[in-house]
Amino acid sequence: MADKIGIHWFRLDLRLNDNPSLINLNKQVDKIIPVYIYEENIELGQASKCWLEKSLEILNNELSRLDSKLYIFKGDPKKIFNKIISEKNISSVSWNRLYDKHSIERDKDIKSSLIKKSIDCNSFNGYLLSEPWDIKNKSGSFFKVFTPFWKTNFEILSKKLILKSSKKYNFYKKDIISVLKIDELKLNTPKKEWMNKILSYWEIGESAAKVKLQKFINNKLSNYGTGRDRPDTDFTSKLSPHLHFGEISPRTIFTEVMKSKIDDDNKKKFLSEIGWRDFSYNLLFNYPEMTELPIQSKFIKFPWLKDKKNFMAWKLGKTGIPIVDAGMKELYEMGWMHNRVRMIVGSFLTKNLLLHWKEGERWFFDTLVDADIGSNSAGWQWISGSGADASPYFRIFNPILQGKKFDSKGEYVKKFLPSLNRIPEKFIHSPWEMSIDEQEKYNFRLGRDYPKPIVDLSDTRKRALAAFKKISV
Ligand SMILES: Cc1cc2nc3c(=O)[nH]c(=O)nc-3n(C[C@H](O)[C@H](O)[C@H](O)COP(=O)(O)OP(=O)(O)OC[C@H]3O[C@@H](n4cnc5c(N)ncnc54)[C@H](O)[C@@H]3O)c2cc1C
Repeated sequence: MADKIGIHWFRLDLRLNDNPSLINLNKQVDKIIPVYIYEENIELGQASKCWLEKSLEILNNELSRLDSKLYIFKGDPKKIFNKIISEKNISSVSWNRLYDKHSIERDKDIKSSLIKKSIDCNSFNGYLLSEPWDIKNKSGSFFKVFTPFWKTNFEILSKKLILKSSKKYNFYKKDIISVLKIDELKLNTPKKEWMNKILSYWEIGESAAKVKLQKFINNKLSNYGTGRDRPDTDFTSKLSPHLHFGEISPRTIFTEVMKSKIDDDNKKKFLSEIGWRDFSYNLLFNYPEMTELPIQSKFIKFPWLKDKKNFMAWKLGKTGIPIVDAGMKELYEMGWMHNRVRMIVGSFLTKNLLLHWKEGERWFFDTLVDADIGSNSAGWQWISGSGADASPYFRIFNPILQGKKFDSKGEYVKKFLPSLNRIPEKFIHSPWEMSIDEQEKYNFRLGRDYPKPIVDLSDTRKRALAAFKKISV
């Protein structure tokens, strides 16, 4: 009898372990064709494209070691599946689910067209700890607030999260027409130097993610609760891009952390952050338009400003507010920014500069290696006050106080803004407070060595509160 052949469609699950679709398909068929389809109509940021290129390369190498390869295509997945089906005797197609509006509609359409052709079609949860539709409150609707969402989710997970082991897969080996090489996808951006610098900070791929998780558990997790808010230390996991591309599953992280001998408080704090990721997807699933529109509809009328000059200063890290500028430089340098600083730069953009959160969200989407449709839009809606369980709009971060609290010696700021190295610690977060004499004493001149602030923090705070009042009446 001829081999039963199935297709596993890799998307944001670029791994072989704890991959529910692969594990299940392996039981159903004799041979699995591992397919990746690059859809040009799906927007990807520059940093994401570069990470993706490397991650595909590594996955392809892993598959080559198993005597197969990644079958890469470019274009409309439905047409590509039809082409493979006309060439090979395919009995099954399988993938792990995605939760944004476009992916849900596309997947539904592909599933129904495959079923019409009598091809078995299955999808699985490989991206989240729990499916958004499984976490419901007592009245049967979804949670809009994080704390009860996570309490319910955590209870369910603690009782029944069991990882299925990944047995030896039987991958397909023969040729298929129209398969592309990775470099034919032309993912690498014209700004090669910038991207090479960003990529030099990261080890990409499934094995690297696994090692990073273990190192994090061994060396950082016991300090996570107190350390996670301090950009001047290095106590967070930096697993976000690996989670985004699915090089590691949140279920593996949950299981490994629970298994570790670290104290409960730090374990729970860390897992609750993975919980925020699930919560973001719970919101995205239930508010599919939240990538474009504010969840709280009153924000549609918010009097956002348009100011190209200020937006450019923010992007380039030239606002004259050190912790904001350091964050924006970190982003451009590493393709990543510390969570506390993401909140500070987000508050500054949407409240002190009064620029639309979409502008910030777009820039993050282009430059973050962890740019993620769920977490990014949820993060921006949270900080701008328009989200479901958001920081209230009137909570305007004071970047000087934030800097003094979370980067008390100014080490984070100095790392990314070396021109502030020579000024005394007490002025690091507000160099404009130095008198001309003091500036001379330290051979530092505001406006020459570091920009003057582009806005007055106190005036713009009042302006933001007045703008908020307009939509609150
Ligand atoms: C304005 C704004 C935009 C953001 N955009 C993104 C984004 O595009 N992609 C992204 O992955 N995260 C985003 N975040 C969330 C958070 O900043 C990052 O996940 C975190 O900084 C990644 O670093 P880490 O892996 O060291 O985190 P850790 O502290 O080690 O946390 C572990 C994991 O939990 C998840 N996580 C942690 N905090 C959050 C959070 N607040 N929301 C959702 N998930 C979280 C991440 O997957 C992270 O890798 C954003 C936050 C804000 C305020």
